[in-house]
Amino acid sequence: MKGLLSRCRALSVLAICSHQLSGSGPHRFYHCDPERGKRLVLSRMFQPQNLREDQVLSLEGTSGDLTCKSQRLMLQVGLIHPASPGCYHLLPYTVRAMEKLERVIDQEMRAIGGQKVNMPSLSPGELWRATNRWDLMGKELLRLRDRHGKEYCLGPTHEEAVTALVASQKTVSYKQLPFLLYQVTRKFRDEPRPRFGLLRGREFYMKDMYSFDSSPEAAQHTYGLVCEAYGSLFRRLGLRCIRVRADVGSIGGTASHEFQLPADIGEDRFAVCSGCGFSANTETLRWLQTDCPACRGPLTEARGIEVGHTFYLGTKYSSIFNAQFIDAQGKPCLAEMGCYGLGVTRILAAAIEVLSTEDCIRWPGLLAPYQVCLIPPKKGSKEEVAAELMDHLYDFIMEALPQLRGEVLLDDRTHRTIGNRLKDANKFGYPFVIIAGKRALEDPAHFEVWSQNTGEVVFLTREGVTEFLSQVQVV
Ligand code: ATP
Ligand code: MG
Repeated sequence: MKGLLSRCRALSVLAICSHQLSGSGPHRFYHCDPERGKRLVLSRMFQPQNLREDQVLSLEGTSGDLTCKSQRLMLQVGLIHPASPGCYHLLPYTVRAMEKLERVIDQEMRAIGGQKVNMPSLSPGELWRATNRWDLMGKELLRLRDRHGKEYCLGPTHEEAVTALVASQKTVSYKQLPFLLYQVTRKFRDEPRPRFGLLRGREFYMKDMYSFDSSPEAAQHTYGLVCEAYGSLFRRLGLRCIRVRADVGSIGGTASHEFQLPADIGEDRFAVCSGCGFSANTETLRWLQTDCPACRGPLTEARGIEVGHTFYLGTKYSSIFNAQFIDAQGKPCLAEMGCYGLGVTRILAAAIEVLSTEDCIRWPGLLAPYQVCLIPPKKGSKEEVAAELMDHLYDFIMEALPQLRGEVLLDDRTHRTIGNRLKDANKFGYPFVIIAGKRALEDPAHFEVWSQNTGEVVFLTREGVTEFLSQVQVV
């Protein structure tokens, strides 16, 4: 059945190819490929280490215990490397996944009118004194002085900076609003207990967006739009995320929601009503409250990782910095604001935490650092001749599916057995693994194609492989 299926697929691909290439035939794929010789090979990566568990423990030393699965797996395969408590080097695989996550975030933010900016991490103390957060934030704020004795902090969030920026534009018309300004930058917080790897760091990436509207109604509308965009983001990542009512905390304002990924290691507790869908962080409920405040049905409690947070701010910040716009009557009015955070590094670690098994990393498909890993036969094995077929398959995929350029990795450590490298590939969680085993010696050659997220295995010809991979979504 499988053979028949792949042959049918192969035929349809051939038909498409010859149609598109107007008579030049599929063999053309072999010759004029500029990418040839530029194959990404695993042996040259600054690389995944695949450490034993005891080696991982000693990496974190005494400074921080290994506290959760995602932290252990990420250290073990060399996605992150500890630098100091709560600070990690993000290694190449992680940076690739982060770049993809940032692209998905950009798409969602731009779809609702977001404009990307990039504000300095060094934030002048006087801005923070103006809102009184210089004192309110206490030890969490990382403070420093420049050579002239002027005080700064390393931005833990940017309400002050962005409001002062908008306030500096003196002639904003109501017709220009809303402004939705966002950035993806490093944030600094001297957390009392940095832990769980990237889930709670002292230096981490956040997407923070700030909205400026001309009326409370318009601002509420914007607030709703951003919440929908967050919902869409998590759906695209294949992550179940629950929006819960939340406390406004030190940021202030009048309404707030958190986006929680249900997980046992989550540091937040929230309650959900299965009857009416009400959900809230338990901090916002009365102590020991077990009934839903909306419909009086029973509440169930769960633990979650807070991956996003939205606040309706009103004029709390615009009134301090005088962030105004000119209304239809030509009168200056204060802008109505909202602010919206997404923990970018936290989302990555949280996704690994909820999707992975104890031993194997699993990524949201869109974020996998590499989509495909090719495993050629072991040197000196009976199948060794198929190694060349694997090189050809690589080039064939590059030519037929340009969207996968940069996404296909060749595990050229051919001194190791296929089984051994497959085990590694499983641990790293490449969504698709393709092996040149015994059936690569058949005519035509058949490759073993593993879909790691579903556990499915099929044998396909090279045309079948490209048709199969044409379904892969990349950002
Ligand atoms: P928490 O309650 O987990 O300390 P917070 O409520 O203080 O977070 P916000 O000010 O709402 O955090 O920041 C927006 C988002 O930034 C959070 O929803 C979270 O995803 C992320 N974030 C906050 N602190 C950290 C941290 N120390 N490490 C990684 N991500 C963080
Ligand atoms: Mg929060």
